[in-house]
Amino acid sequence: MSYASRVLDELKEKNAHEAEFIQAATEVLETLEPVLDAHPQYEENAILERLVEPERIISFRVPWVDDEGKVQVNRGYRVEFNSAIGPYKGGLRFNHTVTQGMLKFLGFEQILKNSLTTLPMGGGKGGSDFEPKGKSNREIMAFCQSFMTELSRHIGPNTDVPAGDLGVGGREIGYMFGQYKRLRNEWSGVLTGKDLPSGGSLVRTEATGYGLVYFVDEYLKSKGDSFEGKTVAVHGSGNVAIYAIQKLTELGGKAVTCCDTKGWIEDPDGVDYKVLEGIYNKKRSGHDAGVSLAMYVDERPGATWHEGDGRGVWTVPCDIALPCARENTLWLEDAQTLVANGCKVVGEGANMPTTLDATAYLQEQSVAFMPGKAANAGGVAVSGLEMSQNAEHLSWTFEEVDSKLEGIMRGIYHACDDAAREYGHEGNYVMGANIAGFLKVANAMMAQGI
Ligand code: GLU
Repeated sequence: MSYASRVLDELKEKNAHEAEFIQAATEVLETLEPVLDAHPQYEENAILERLVEPERIISFRVPWVDDEGKVQVNRGYRVEFNSAIGPYKGGLRFNHTVTQGMLKFLGFEQILKNSLTTLPMGGGKGGSDFEPKGKSNREIMAFCQSFMTELSRHIGPNTDVPAGDLGVGGREIGYMFGQYKRLRNEWSGVLTGKDLPSGGSLVRTEATGYGLVYFVDEYLKSKGDSFEGKTVAVHGSGNVAIYAIQKLTELGGKAVTCCDTKGWIEDPDGVDYKVLEGIYNKKRSGHDAGVSLAMYVDERPGATWHEGDGRGVWTVPCDIALPCARENTLWLEDAQTLVANGCKVVGEGANMPTTLDATAYLQEQSVAFMPGKAANAGGVAVSGLEMSQNAEHLSWTFEEVDSKLEGIMRGIYHACDDAAREYGHEGNYVMGANIAGFLKVANAMMAQGI
């Protein structure tokens, strides 16, 4: 039995209830086989056993008072997974589906993603089962302050630097940052994704979407191709989707569909990112009752709204598919439909949106498959740039940050491509991303001893 299979078996036994974590670890460990075979020192130093075990998990009570004056209690977490190459870094997710297992999956992916950015950031993730949808602005503030009251004792600009993820945007980061400052009497870059006057970075909002398009564009360029004239299906309508649509439209592509949790739209004239941005901002303003993507067709009469599962977007013929919402939203049957309709590239804007069987099918069918840990690294990359600006007490222009982001994303594509080639699996970007991300972290762990 190979080293990776042995560690994977142990992991499945120990973490039997953590389905997403098992899914992510399986994909990573299996693709590392060629590296582990070539370099026995990783097994001798138990690198995999150490890599799959978080350095620390903090779980805590978050009490807060709702608008009726009733006390509510949620559970908060921070998974401090790996600090070999820098302070723990990764987002906070507020969603009723959040569990420790989900955050372990996201934290584990984050280790490799952060390593790929080439910036000094370790891997972490956190969040709560608090559901922000339907809550008033005051309730969100009360929750964020209570969450930070506990979290503040575990984080710091050189220890652990959280940011946003699903359910946590600029507003929530602002409330948490304010609370940290009040408690510590200290201004420091302890969170990223801050608003500009509080020390945030330009391009942070657009970063994941822009980064995804730069990554896919670099792949197309390496094949002598471009976004020009390409039809694109986008799953999602949040931050990642909106700015991916803006950038791909700028590069000559056309997004023909996108979705939210209630349904999906089809716009043969090309989705207008500005209309999406307007709806998204209304949804996030705290007065979200009744706001849904269905309102898009009011402003774009040529478009159609289909109520139901957002996975409907995968039935719209496209050259490129960009899943930009959340995990497990592109299934095997969707992959089959995409291939039957001529899709040639899938770029993951979300974390693990494609199921393992769908990924395997796409790769078998020679679809260029770009895994999220590489393709969506733009968000955390600009977080890293925000940390640099905060540490230097400077702020860079939009153009400076955007060009650094572009350089990082185009560089990640080549790092993945080169690693896959070096280990004999040219065109397998899952393998390339895992290997390139792993090597840096593993070598740092070796250098630091046990
Ligand atoms: N939540 C984002 C991610 O999945 C960004 C994390 C960060 O900026 O720290 O990569």
